[in-house]
Amino acid sequence: MLRIPWKQVNWLNSLFLIFTLLLTLTAVPIYLWRYGLDWFQVSLFVVMFMATGMSITLGYHRLFSHRAFAANPVIRFLTLVFGAAAFENSALCWSADHRRHHKHVDHDEDPYDISKGFFHAHMGWIMIKLEPHTSFDYAKDLLRDRLVMWQHRYYVPIAITAGYLLPALIGGLWNGVHGALGGLLIAGIARTVCVQQMTFFINSLCHTIGNRPYSSQCTARDSGLMAFFTFGEGYHNFHHAFQHDYRNGVKPWQFDPTKWAIWLLCKFGLAKDLRRVPEGRIMMAEVAEQQRLLSNRLEVLHIPTHAERLRERMAAAQASLHEAFVRWEKLESEYAQSMERKLNASREKLAELQREVRDARDRVYAAMREWRETHQSILSQLAEAAPA
Ligand SMILES: [Zn+2]
Ligand SMILES: [Zn+2]
Repeated sequence: MLRIPWKQVNWLNSLFLIFTLLLTLTAVPIYLWRYGLDWFQVSLFVVMFMATGMSITLGYHRLFSHRAFAANPVIRFLTLVFGAAAFENSALCWSADHRRHHKHVDHDEDPYDISKGFFHAHMGWIMIKLEPHTSFDYAKDLLRDRLVMWQHRYYVPIAITAGYLLPALIGGLWNGVHGALGGLLIAGIARTVCVQQMTFFINSLCHTIGNRPYSSQCTARDSGLMAFFTFGEGYHNFHHAFQHDYRNGVKPWQFDPTKWAIWLLCKFGLAKDLRRVPEGRIMMAEVAEQQRLLSNRLEVLHIPTHAERLRERMAAAQASLHEAFVRWEKLESEYAQSMERKLNASREKLAELQREVRDARDRVYAAMREWRETHQSILSQLAEAAPA
């Protein structure tokens, strides 16, 4: 049963969350029943949902918390204004809490520690006086950022103006008092509830459902379904493994609108320095995870000599893959350095180095295929050895 620690309740946050939810469940349906729903109100809701939701995922999360790319001041300003309109605190506090989450994930210091229960990770942590408090030690760089500090100082008036007054004003211009009321209730209050729940799900469901292809060392999970509802943030296992990458859905087919938006901003010259983890490192993380799972299974195998033989086969495949990977990384960094100091390297030398990098990459892929085959054959042997 849910026990409420009354003395620790953060009343301001709790009343805001409860009151906006109640209004969404009561006043919004009454308004719709009384005045009907027109396409303008629907469009306003969608535009506000996307502007504020993306300001959280692209702005608060990938830009300010992780510095996964650098953005033009206009983009920084817009994401700070519409991020405030999501009513999830200032970017400074949000980022400080979020960086602490990454550093101490699943432990006491993690503000939204899932091991304290689903509701705590979802929104319970906001409804209590959090211990330890938000610490700006995690956001020293942001304390020096004038735009971030401006938003932090005037967070409440910015949030009310952009989150509630703006949709009411736009609705009013469209259809007088009824339009203003509709804008406030639908694109203002109901939209705030939806965007907040979207963010809350990242901290709760994304640590509960899905798989862990990159690391089972923490509870974060990858889920295509969650990505669909969270502008691509559902690939949370990858994100916890490589938090500074501007992509969360790293595979080309994964649904990550935030990644696409950052890429587009870059093409228009509004973003730069997009950080990407090299593909080899991502591949090796997946291999290491598969290796970990297999070792666990071999550990409990009842025929020790058989387990030892399989372990040796796997270790040999792993060693040649690792060797190929190290060589590829070394050559790639040599090539990158030579490209930076073009003057010191002749065109022929660069072309030769490029060829060597390509060969090394091919060798990694060949070693990877061998590793996969060995891994697959050991898995089938284990399945045969297992009692029916
Ligand atoms: Zn997380
Ligand atoms: Zn993060």
